[in-house]
Amino acid sequence: MSDYQATIGLEVHAELRTRTKMFCDSLNDPDEKEPNTNVCPVCLAHPGALPVANRQAVEHVIRVGLALGGAISPVTKFDRKNYFYPDLPKGYQISQYDQPLVTGGKLRNIRITRVHLEEDTATLSHEGQGSGAAASLVDFNRAGVPLMELVTEPDFRSADEVTDFARELQLILRYLGVSDANMEKGQMRIEANVSLNMGTKVELKNINSFKAVHDAVLFELKRQEEALRAGEKIRQETRGWNEAKQQTVAQRSKEEAHDYRYFPEPDLPPFETKIFDIERLRTELPELPAQKRERFMREYGLDERRAEMLVAEPGLAVFFEEAESELEELSRVDGRGTLFNYLTSDLRGLMNDAGVGLKDLKVSPEHLAHLVSLIIAGKITSRQAKDVLAKMFATGADPEDIVAQENIGISSDTAEIEAVVTAVIAENEVAVNDYRKGKTASMQFLIGKAMGKLKGRARPDMLTDLFRRMLG
Ligand code: ADP
Ligand code: MG
Repeated sequence: MSDYQATIGLEVHAELRTRTKMFCDSLNDPDEKEPNTNVCPVCLAHPGALPVANRQAVEHVIRVGLALGGAISPVTKFDRKNYFYPDLPKGYQISQYDQPLVTGGKLRNIRITRVHLEEDTATLSHEGQGSGAAASLVDFNRAGVPLMELVTEPDFRSADEVTDFARELQLILRYLGVSDANMEKGQMRIEANVSLNMGTKVELKNINSFKAVHDAVLFELKRQEEALRAGEKIRQETRGWNEAKQQTVAQRSKEEAHDYRYFPEPDLPPFETKIFDIERLRTELPELPAQKRERFMREYGLDERRAEMLVAEPGLAVFFEEAESELEELSRVDGRGTLFNYLTSDLRGLMNDAGVGLKDLKVSPEHLAHLVSLIIAGKITSRQAKDVLAKMFATGADPEDIVAQENIGISSDTAEIEAVVTAVIAENEVAVNDYRKGKTASMQFLIGKAMGKLKGRARPDMLTDLFRRMLG
């Protein structure tokens, strides 16, 4: 056993999905490509411009608080966090200091310290490199976008626990509809405070994927352990993650740390959260990932891995449930496993190959259920089902229509099948004689011929029976 226990706490920022920005009515549009389009005197910090708090953003943070079992503060307020940087036009960020919207709560076994509301900064881009940069450009589209900050207690004991938590939190934010929480797009940002045995902590920044979080934490734990074993002290500092070098690198020491001189925001009075009808927000919470996982396993008999595939992709889960309820009406036989497989493997494969998402998918849940019921009822073989599904995918047609039009599907016309078997026997004297002499492989040859004539529309076991009978 190592004498060094990892102790890690997270600070997670998420850009909220709202119509307008945190303190003004400029649009909050993460997809806006043209710089400095969604701006106004408030988010450009013109003198005298006054902020007004965004109701939708406050409600989003309350939703998060309720989902995590936190306490919603009866009274909350905003504070100014002062620092100078070119991406912050006011010279301060409006944030929350000592009366955050949410305190406490839990996710998995991790205690949540607080969740509060603040505003995002502008985006800087530098032309050229380092001190020789020709110019720095500022895009204010993101300035003032509502930002949620969630802080945890230092309860994580491993890098795996950190990424498990972060993924689950991302899923919850998406289920709640409060954030797209895409890490690569910077909509969700994770800072990890890492120490051993609750000693001096190092704050890790500039991490923009789950994998990078994992790698950075692992690297840092190892670096600290080696330093301590060598009798060195850990410096309290901020370190960045260098993706190329796969290392954390020192950025700022404690001595350089800011004194933010927080004070209450004079332009926004404290307010009571009861004006937000918290009970309504609570009853309107959607089913959360953990609940859905549990229900899918119970209701549809899916194992954990399969349930997780659906929970991780809410649109797919909705599709599955709609198809499932249709299938229950159509078929008394349990076709769940089959439905799940056709959805997540065959249909998913077609979608991936064609670059088609659920939104543009022509196959409806009902039609997928019809297809599965045809398979379960033995009306088409699984080989044929693949072809039918490909046609459904291309045209959006009902599988029953495709089967009828293309004259595929297993023929129940015994006279037709008998006629084909008779013809095959007449046309293949050599194989017939071989079979009669005891060469059983010839049977496969004859079945193949008959199957060819029937274009695959017969059940192989039925053909075998017929040949056996007719060849005596
Ligand atoms: P600071 O005042 O430096 O911002 P906070 O007490 O506000 O520190 O904690 C910030 C984050 O650091 C929280 O996520 C918290 O859980 C974590 N943290 C605090 N102390 C430690 C420690 N010794 N080791 C690891 N993480 C810590
Ligand atoms: Mg802090």
